[in-house]
Formats: sequence, C-alpha cells, structure tokens
Amino acid sequence: MLIDFKMEGESVMKCIYCNSEVELTSSDIITYAITGAKLTKSFVCKIHNAFTNDNYEKKFVADLDFFRNQLGLTTRDGKPIQYKADLSIDGTEIHNVKLSNRESLYAPKDVVAGTDIDGNKILMAPMERLEKISKGKAASVNMSDVVVHKTVGSNDFIGYHAIHSMAKMAYEWYCYINNIEEYKEEYQEIVDYILGNTEQEIVDIIIDGNYYVMIDRLSEIGTNSFFQYDDIDGYRYVVIDFWKTIAYRIRICKTPNDCLKKVQLLPIKLYLYHIDGSKTQEVLGMFLLEENEQTYFKTICTQNITAGIWGIFTNRIGKIMTTMLLSIHILKKEVNTLSAKLDKYDDGKINVPLLLGFEENNIVTTIDILSQLYLNKDKYDMTKTFNQNLPIVLNLDSDTIGRTQEDKKKFVQLLVDKDKNNELSEYIREGINFFNEIYENEKNLLKYNLYRHEMY
Ligand SMILES: [Zn+2]
Repeated sequence: MLIDFKMEGESVMKCIYCNSEVELTSSDIITYAITGAKLTKSFVCKIHNAFTNDNYEKKFVADLDFFRNQLGLTTRDGKPIQYKADLSIDGTEIHNVKLSNRESLYAPKDVVAGTDIDGNKILMAPMERLEKISKGKAASVNMSDVVVHKTVGSNDFIGYHAIHSMAKMAYEWYCYINNIEEYKEEYQEIVDYILGNTEQEIVDIIIDGNYYVMIDRLSEIGTNSFFQYDDIDGYRYVVIDFWKTIAYRIRICKTPNDCLKKVQLLPIKLYLYHIDGSKTQEVLGMFLLEENEQTYFKTICTQNITAGIWGIFTNRIGKIMTTMLLSIHILKKEVNTLSAKLDKYDDGKINVPLLLGFEENNIVTTIDILSQLYLNKDKYDMTKTFNQNLPIVLNLDSDTIGRTQEDKKKFVQLLVDKDKNNELSEYIREGINFFNEIYENEKNLLKYNLYRHEMY
C-alpha cells in the first residue's frame, strides 16, 4: 500500500517561469561557465531551461572565452578554455586565431590557423610540417616577438545576450534566496523579458562612483556579487556585480507597500561567489546621498553608455589580464602543475621554454611568488593565514598580484641564466617545498578554527 504523506497546504515545487510541475530540471542559477561557485535548484522546467540556454546564455559565455581563460576557469572536464585572439608576428597581423595558452602557439600540437585582413587563411606550424601542406610556398616568421591582442567589445558585456543572461540570473537568484518556488503575477514583467516577450528594458548599469569604491574594497577580480534591495522609486531590484568589472541592476518587481519608505542608510546583505568555489557574505550600509534624489544608485541604460563611460569599464575589465588571484587554493593548483613540469625538466624531457610555458603569465608569476615567499621565509608568520601574510611577505596591499611587462622580462632573464648555470631546478624546488609547508600549515589553522568554534 502506498501512503501519501503530503500535508494539506504544502506547496509543490513549480517552474518559476510557467508553474509547470512536470519535467523540472536543475538550473544553474549563476551560469556555470562564469563562476567556480555552483548554485543550482530544480525549479525550472525543461523547456524554459533550454530556452534561456539556447537563446542567449551559450552565446554570452562564448563571447567571454578569453576572459574565462585568463581567470583560470576551465571546461566541465577541467581543460583550459580556448579563445580567439589576434596576433602580430614579425609584422604580420593574423586575426581570429584559436588559442588556449602560449604553449598552444609556440609548440602547437596542431596547425595554428587564422585569417589576414582580407579574410585569407593563414596557417602556422613548424616549417617541415608546413612545407608539406603548402608545397614550398610557406614563408618563415620570427616568433620571438609575438603580441597577442584582444579587443574588449562592449557588446560582449552589455549587448543583448549579456543583459538577458543577467536578467535570468537575477530572477533565479532572487527566487532562490527568498524561497520562491512558483511563478507569481507580480513577476510578469521580468519573466516576459527573460522569455523574449517584451522590448521593455529592465536592466541598467550602475555608474555610481561611491558604489564602485565600496565594491572594490569587498570583492576581488573574478568574484560575482549579488544583493537585493528596495529603491525609493518603488521597485525591488537585484544587483549583480560581474567579476568586479560592471554592476548590472535588474528590476524584479514592485516593492511591497509596507517596505516603501525613504531611509538614509540602507542595510545590504552582499552574497559573494568566488572563482575558487567559495561563497562568503558581507553586510554593508549604503547611504542615500542628497545628490541621488531618485534612487540609491546612479544608473544608466545600456543604449546611453558613451565611449567615455565604456572606457572606464574597459579599464576595470583590463585588470583581469594583468592580475593573478592569490588564493592559496589557486596557487596550490598552479604549484602542482609546475611541480609535474619540473620533474620532466629534471629528466631532460623538456627544456626551459617548455618549463616556463613560453613565458605564460601564470607560470612565471607562480615562480615569482614562490621565490619571493622563500626569500622572505623568516618574515612568514605561521600562526596567521596565507592571505594575512601576503602584505608583509610579498609587499602587496591586496590579494592580487600584477607585474609590469618590464618586471616580467627581467625575471624571465634571471630564470634563463639560472638554467644555464644548472641552478634553476633547485631554485624553484626550494620555493615549492616552502609553499607546501605553508599549505599544510593553512590546513591546520583551519582545523584549529573549527575546534575553537566548537568550544564556544
Ligand atoms: Zn517553465
């Protein structure tokens, strides 16, 4: 006999777009491809999950491949993300070249293909291979001075696919945080927008300097921050701060009447989803400034973004390329990769360019950090966490490291010289060993913290 334990009045989960109770599938509330921190819930039906995915999310993600690669995000099976960029090599411009890292360019497993300015195909490969393909018509180029360019298109961040993806994430996140498990009439406007049934714009961009000063203190490159609030214009909004580059404000619904009052200080609970998979929360207060008469934040709709405003955002986006996040977990991953390469180098299986990944930023930066840590090991305080030690040991004022091209060149030269003198392996190993000590220590610190929490 089957007994139905369902209580009278208990709600059944429904699709938050159409109230369907069948074929509910797990939805990635934050698009999986732009975060390390997964957030899912089975409150979207199969049809609507496929709709958002096929109509804009796939395209939105593909447009960001270059940045996803730079942030260290990977494919679902852990491979580096491929992207297209333009190259200048020895005076020749090659467009739309598919790359995943510098090694894929300098020591390609396959032919590297791109186009010239007229759209003609250009192939690059080792000479012996290319001569077979081109029957002697290939010319050699000097690979010592390759520049990889990437143009940051505003469309990738504020075009149709991007802002619709933001609206979808905002609505699903809002439902998730507030335990909403069905479609209600008050959400008709945003649902119509997400499903492409209206042109009415509900996404705008925060251009408030005070906001960015605040978020820059709390967030880090690659982190997605979310919060909800009621504004004095009578609407309820969700703000998505995307990778610490651009903040999108999405109108969710009308503010319930009892909440509508003008307060000078707005308490906000900020949810941060980090690239290394961790999730944290912060509470902060936003002040209503005299100059902001209409709303708490100054915003602008995407069509009205001028070249000047876009320039400011380009600067923020550019930080993704010159920054390496210094979480101990990210560094551990890099150190493991480097360690495996160093074994091959010691066995004579790879040379110094391959060891350094043809001067790949992350590899060079990792070795740089390791050597700094080892050099300053006396200053390292093992009773404190890795990130607490960083300002002292690496002389940094934040959890990110950025080096100029000039610094990098000098450091690479030092490594090449050490290779000639047979000192390179030991130099790197000293750093790796000390880092592993720090890593073990960090695990013990965490245990200690847990223990303390249990005591009180
Ligand atoms: Zn549905």
